[in-house]
Amino acid sequence: MNERIDALAGVLVEASHDLHDHPELAYEEHHAHELLTSILEREGVEVTRGAHGLDTAFDARAGGAGPTVAVCCEYDALPGVGHACGHNVIATAGLGAGLAAAALAEEAGGRVRIVGTPAEEGGGGKVVMAEAGAFEGVDAAMMIHPADADLLWMDVIACVQLEVDYHGTAAHAAAFPHQGRNALDAAVLGYQGVAALRQHIAPGERVHGVFTHGGAKANIVPDHTAMHWMVRSTRLDRAEDLCGRVLACLEAGASAAGCTMEHRRVGHDYADMADNEVLLRLFAANAESLGRTLADPRTSGTAVVGSTDMGNVSQLVPSIHPLLQVAPAGVSIHSHDFARHARADAGDQAVLDGARALAMTVADLWAEPERVEEVRTAFDEQRR
Ligand SMILES: [Zn+2]
Ligand SMILES: [Zn+2]
Repeated sequence: MNERIDALAGVLVEASHDLHDHPELAYEEHHAHELLTSILEREGVEVTRGAHGLDTAFDARAGGAGPTVAVCCEYDALPGVGHACGHNVIATAGLGAGLAAAALAEEAGGRVRIVGTPAEEGGGGKVVMAEAGAFEGVDAAMMIHPADADLLWMDVIACVQLEVDYHGTAAHAAAFPHQGRNALDAAVLGYQGVAALRQHIAPGERVHGVFTHGGAKANIVPDHTAMHWMVRSTRLDRAEDLCGRVLACLEAGASAAGCTMEHRRVGHDYADMADNEVLLRLFAANAESLGRTLADPRTSGTAVVGSTDMGNVSQLVPSIHPLLQVAPAGVSIHSHDFARHARADAGDQAVLDGARALAMTVADLWAEPERVEEVRTAFDEQRR
């Protein structure tokens, strides 16, 4: 396993840098799709391009029988900050793990899927793929995510998204202001209402929004403004409740400014993550053997809170989403600083360590079928 990854190291690191140099937004990852599928084909792995109804998804398979393990590769970037979530590291660690496992699959009596999952940053690629059956027959799904610490898991909370439009009445802002109804005031008051709400939400909850349209010109009373919100809680049903409270604040802004408001749910709802403890234990032991001790976020004082469509996968099949350190402690994902680290030495090391630890975990499951049973039992218990 490890010799195979040593032999691939140059290819994996080069691919990681290539992805980093070509950041692509959700569902536009054509360069990444071409790069990753070409490497898979060159290495002799059968791959379906544009898999499960998505142009930039792929699904590669190896092995004929035995437990099926899916390794997920994310490769979308963010507007303005590029690969500031380090998905170049995720994609190439997954690729390396998948290729190493594929080379052994027949002999080891297992199956591996290398699943290219686009649009993690809000687009819900895995949700769409899951609806198309991408994770059917999968005994375990895994990936790694870069972070500022080596951690067993990310604190993945549920997330729903809203788009909000305010409508008012345009007028000359100096000549006839009294005839206007200001949609920007409505949005600002709504935003401030949410700010007041934040004192009274649960500690694990998050609400954050941006103005996506704030008016056209200062001498026209804005008759239209728009916002995008994310509302997060520990479970989807709680996010739903919180969403109602957020909407009440936003409506109050419209009411105060004499405007109207409309909203719609956008994207896909992201579920919280149920990390599989048996898989985690195997992965942590493998990471340990590579010199990485994965800390428990409950006791280490370091946690990364966020949402991911891997949460939705974890509700369907046993899954893990451990974090590997690529940046010094305290460097936030989604920052320019983090983007730099994702392409530097520590990012490259995480590609190789991630590939090794994932591949070793796949091999662990193949080696002893009772482990797959244990994984399933833990999954069933968690669901109860
Ligand atoms: Zn991200
Ligand atoms: Zn990410």
